[in-house]
Parts: sequence; structure tokens; C-alpha cells
Amino acid sequence: MARYHDPLCRLCRREGEKLFLKGERCFTDKCSIERRKYAPGQHGQRRAKLSDYGIQLKEKQKVRRIYGLMERQFRKYFAEAERRKGITGTLLLQYLELRLDNIVFRLGFASNRNQARQLITHGHLAVNGRKVNIPSFRVKVGDVVEVLENSKNIGSIAESLTRIEHTGLPGWIEVDAQNMKGKVVQLPEREDIPLVAKEQLIVEFYSR
Ligand code: SF4
Repeated sequence: MARYHDPLCRLCRREGEKLFLKGERCFTDKCSIERRKYAPGQHGQRRAKLSDYGIQLKEKQKVRRIYGLMERQFRKYFAEAERRKGITGTLLLQYLELRLDNIVFRLGFASNRNQARQLITHGHLAVNGRKVNIPSFRVKVGDVVEVLENSKNIGSIAESLTRIEHTGLPGWIEVDAQNMKGKVVQLPEREDIPLVAKEQLIVEFYSR
């Protein structure tokens, strides 16, 4: 599957805001955007006034980059959300939140979504007792996500689990940190999704 391989901090600098793509580092003064508050590249320090289209595009790119998706995958989620009854923007965010890589990140088994993806593709996770190595796997309400027995000694998992002691968990998932196991207890409503984004702009972008 196609992936974005450029430095992650460049993505934040391009968006002009923190996207929190690197876990702990994002909360320290090593964060690139703290040191260079302008876009990367030769013309990065120029300020251009954005059109409505530019603002919508920027919001779409921001959310797409936060979840680490390529345009085609992101567009597929939007198309699915658009087909369903309900608020398209909220449905889009729900689909993104229910991806296995995001759940693994939210449960605190990984410090960012990239790390979560790596744990999954390397076969360290199971859903309802069955190994799943597909990051885009959609988790359902009631599903139990756990670190496989042989993988529980991976240092980075225990380390990142300490993060949720400080940040807490969204109300729609619960975790048993000791047994490295978590569950989706309900569908996330918009207010339960800790994401600063104006999803309506994404809907407007794709509806042009
Ligand atoms: Fe973005 Fe984190 Fe890099 Fe800061 S450290 S620029 S928030 S990815």
C-alpha cells in the first residue's frame, strides 16, 4: 500500500499547526514547529491569503495527514460516509476513528498512529482473539483489541501505555492496561473525538 515517507514534521509545518504525528516528541521543545513556525521550502515564509477552496483543501489535507492516509483511501471513507444516512462529516470521522491503527493508538498501545500501524503489520495485535495485521481493519462496537501474549514484552507498548495515565481515554473505549487489552464500548460521537478539525469544510471540499 502506498504510504507517505517524507519527514512527518514537514507535514505539520506545511499545515502551520501541530498534528501530533510523533507522540511524546510533539509535547517537547524538540517539536519542529516550535522552532520554525513557517512552511518548509524556499517560499515557506511567504504568507498567501487563502481562497475558500484553499481553506477547505487545507482542512482536508490536515485530517488526512493526522490519520496517515493517502488521498484514495481518504476519499473512499468520504464516499462511504456520503452514502450513509446521517451527518457526513461525523460519519467520516467515525470511520477514521474505528480503523484498527487508530484504536491501537487511542488505547495507548502505541505513541502515534505510525507506530500503531507498524505493530499491527508485524502481527502483534488481535481482535476478538484472532490475529489481525491490517491497519485499516474496521473495529466494531463490542470488539476486543489486545496485544498478543508473545508481544506483551515489547518495551514501547508498556512505555506508551503510561501516556494514557496522563492523558486519559476517550469515553467510547476502555482499556485494561495490565493485560494490554481494550474494548470499543460505543460508537464515538463527534464530541467524543479528540480532534481539532472542521469536518464540514471537508464535506464542502468534496461536494464542489
Ligand atoms: Fe508535528 Fe510532532 Fe513534529 Fe511537532 S514534533 S512538528 S507536532 S510531528
